[in-house]
Amino acid sequence: MIECRNLFKTFGLAESQVEAVRNVNLTIPKGSYTKVVGPSGSGKSTLLNLMAGLLHPSSGEVIVDGISLYEELDANGLARFRREYLGFVFQAFNLIPYLTALENILLPLTPTGESRNAKLQMAQEALNRVGIWDRRTHRPGELSGGQQQRVAIARALVNQPEIIMADEPTGNLDSRTRGEILDLFGELNTAGHTLLMVTHDESYTGQGAVLHIQDGLVETLEPEAVNV
Ligand code: ADP
Ligand code: MG
Repeated sequence: MIECRNLFKTFGLAESQVEAVRNVNLTIPKGSYTKVVGPSGSGKSTLLNLMAGLLHPSSGEVIVDGISLYEELDANGLARFRREYLGFVFQAFNLIPYLTALENILLPLTPTGESRNAKLQMAQEALNRVGIWDRRTHRPGELSGGQQQRVAIARALVNQPEIIMADEPTGNLDSRTRGEILDLFGELNTAGHTLLMVTHDESYTGQGAVLHIQDGLVETLEPEAVNV
């Protein structure tokens, strides 16, 4: 369902140019779980942002459900694509500090035509899904790192997106909390979401296919869940 064709992204000019992503060709099937691993600076975040409709490629295409994101959609179309198809989770949580957990989760629903009650229902489902309904009136500063990341995951889930992308979502967490958050992502995949997760920690094995990236090149894909 997500396809990269001859995908390149170059930053900078002349001698300072960096080829962050070099000729990536891959297909991520619907319902799969893919982990993107590789050293710092290898192009993991760049590749994820390209696939998320967040970053225009230098050349090549990203095709999601038959739509070539950067060739067929303008800025509004890309924003709608992200809202309807995609939940994105960041390493640093990126919650709004002066809003409660519930208010943070309601934010992505602001532009939708849903009624206030329907929005609250969706937010409640998302908060229950990540196990923090009882923390809904807390602000991010009153929550642990793991709880903040659960709020951020609930925010990514609230529009019921087909695809969930996460860029080192456990990078700021202690090892026990890391395991809990990884288990939660595993459950989301089992529930049918297509999952794409960047991590620099190769010890995150278990569920999912592993896509190795080095110097902007996708080196190996294993097992066959992901097809080059
Ligand atoms: P990773 O997520 O694997 O650590 P990135 O995708 O962030 O790697 O970066 C890949 C390469 O592209 C690095 O050399 C990085 O410095 C460079 N890069 C990333 N974003 C930018 C940017 N906005 N401007 C210039 N160079 C960038
Ligand atoms: Mg990164």
